[in-house]
Amino acid sequence: TTDYGIPQMLKNLGISNENNGVSAGGAFFATGDMLESFSPTDGKLISKVKTANPEDYQTVIEKAKSAFKEFRMVPAPKRGELVRQFGLKLREYKDDLGKLVSYEMGKSLQEGLGEVQEMIDICDFAVGLSRQLHGYTMHSERPGHRMYEQYHPLGIVGIISAFNFPVAVWSWNTALSWICGNVTIWKPSEKTPLCAIACQNIINEVLNENNMPEGISTMIVGDHKIGEMLVSDKNVALISFTGSTKVGRTVGKNVAERFGKSILELGGNNAIIITENADLDMSIIGAVFGAVGTAGQRCTSTRRLIIHTSVYDEMKNRLVQAYGQLKIGNPLDENNHVGPLIDKDAVKQYLDSIEKCRQEGGNFIVEGGVLEGDGYESGCYVKPCIAEVENSYGIVQHETFAPILYLIKYKTLEEAIALQNDVPQGLSSAIMTQNLREAELFLSQAGSDCGIANVNIGTSGAEIGGAFGGEKETGGGRESGSDVWKYYMRRQTNTINYTASLPLAQGIKFDL
Ligand code: NAD
Repeated sequence: TTDYGIPQMLKNLGISNENNGVSAGGAFFATGDMLESFSPTDGKLISKVKTANPEDYQTVIEKAKSAFKEFRMVPAPKRGELVRQFGLKLREYKDDLGKLVSYEMGKSLQEGLGEVQEMIDICDFAVGLSRQLHGYTMHSERPGHRMYEQYHPLGIVGIISAFNFPVAVWSWNTALSWICGNVTIWKPSEKTPLCAIACQNIINEVLNENNMPEGISTMIVGDHKIGEMLVSDKNVALISFTGSTKVGRTVGKNVAERFGKSILELGGNNAIIITENADLDMSIIGAVFGAVGTAGQRCTSTRRLIIHTSVYDEMKNRLVQAYGQLKIGNPLDENNHVGPLIDKDAVKQYLDSIEKCRQEGGNFIVEGGVLEGDGYESGCYVKPCIAEVENSYGIVQHETFAPILYLIKYKTLEEAIALQNDVPQGLSSAIMTQNLREAELFLSQAGSDCGIANVNIGTSGAEIGGAFGGEKETGGGRESGSDVWKYYMRRQTNTINYTASLPLAQGIKFDL
């Protein structure tokens, strides 16, 4: 047996046996209940975290409010310099932080490291962006007038994140918020509080080395009650929420109620269409990684394969074969392909979904089940499974956050696209084809209705350079690259009159 270097990793990241779960940039504090974080990999208690109570929340809000007044006056490229230093620190801590992500959340070490790489990438992107927060200039219809628009910081950005990307989602929001001149309050998932504390330790180092005031990047560990306080607080200009559609529906309503802004990144139900012209070798890799990677707990996980009848049997046989070779076990051991689910509630939902699928008529060609015995003591390891289904089944319309893959047959591409779109969610989608007509139809306005549409790439994962997010019940938000920074700023149109008369727009006459 090996401890995978976990005690040393925790020490390097500043995690002790008992931690305080609130930080405004200086010392950590918290006066609420104690939370215990268990690893789904081995079922062991990793460490304890004291959570926030409402007074702790108020302290954080006050510090963030006062920090914003200073931070908004720091020139954007100087704010970019802070983000550059943050990216350098992340490079130093990459191995440790990637390992903690793997140990606390349960994704493979490779994917844990990948998540930290994504944090580094968004920092690099944001540094460049800090000199490119461009607005347009326009020609005024009035003589002697100049018109332009500019982007100003919003204020406090509240970041509520999900367990499955316990570090990257925060960094997407924080890196952009910072260069835009905002300050942030992060409420991480209560299922991965140690990842959040480790990140806060890293960012505190950067802020302290630059003598920045408290309140620029704050973190507050708590359950849904702290989340609700953030959502309903009119001091918080933007709520960036990543999580389930069920919670996102309430969050969206409550933020809109007070005319706040929100970015909603909710559940997906992602499909790959495998056409008669697909490269089946590539299709197998894309489908299997998409379905079983992160044990099916990515918002972009592949949940449905929509397969042309002519290649259906071959794909089916090759999938069964590929699933037979999957190694399930400790994600810190790089020989394993599939790690555990996050907790026993998730295992229960997985089992319930299999049962519902069977009741609706699903035919399992690879059976599921919970693993027991040596190495599976946490009770969170399950077998990835595959069922032949109809797209219309209730369970197929629903996002189950587990490695259950559904197979659906089609005859024409129009039918396949209709099936792909016929779910409430609209996050990621893909087509496997070497035929230009098929690819272009899929990408056209009559094609995929998702925020992400790929050709000859699976549904799972994305680069930070593009705008990330989805339509319909996925919430409509966009995060990360492209011009997404505009969501984090308020737009102002300015008209300046440099003459001695006051002409009105549209030629309106008003003489005194
Ligand atoms: P969840 O909705 O249970 O929790 C998400 C966060 O919301 C947690 O921090 C939680 O404490 C908080 N929360 C719960 N109730 C709240 C309330 N009433 N008000 C405010 N905050 C509240 O989601 P989860 O199980 O952690 O994550 C899995 C889900 O996240 C999946 O549906 C997945 O698809 C989705 N997800 C989406 C994206 C995306 O970019 N679209 C990315 C990652 C995860």
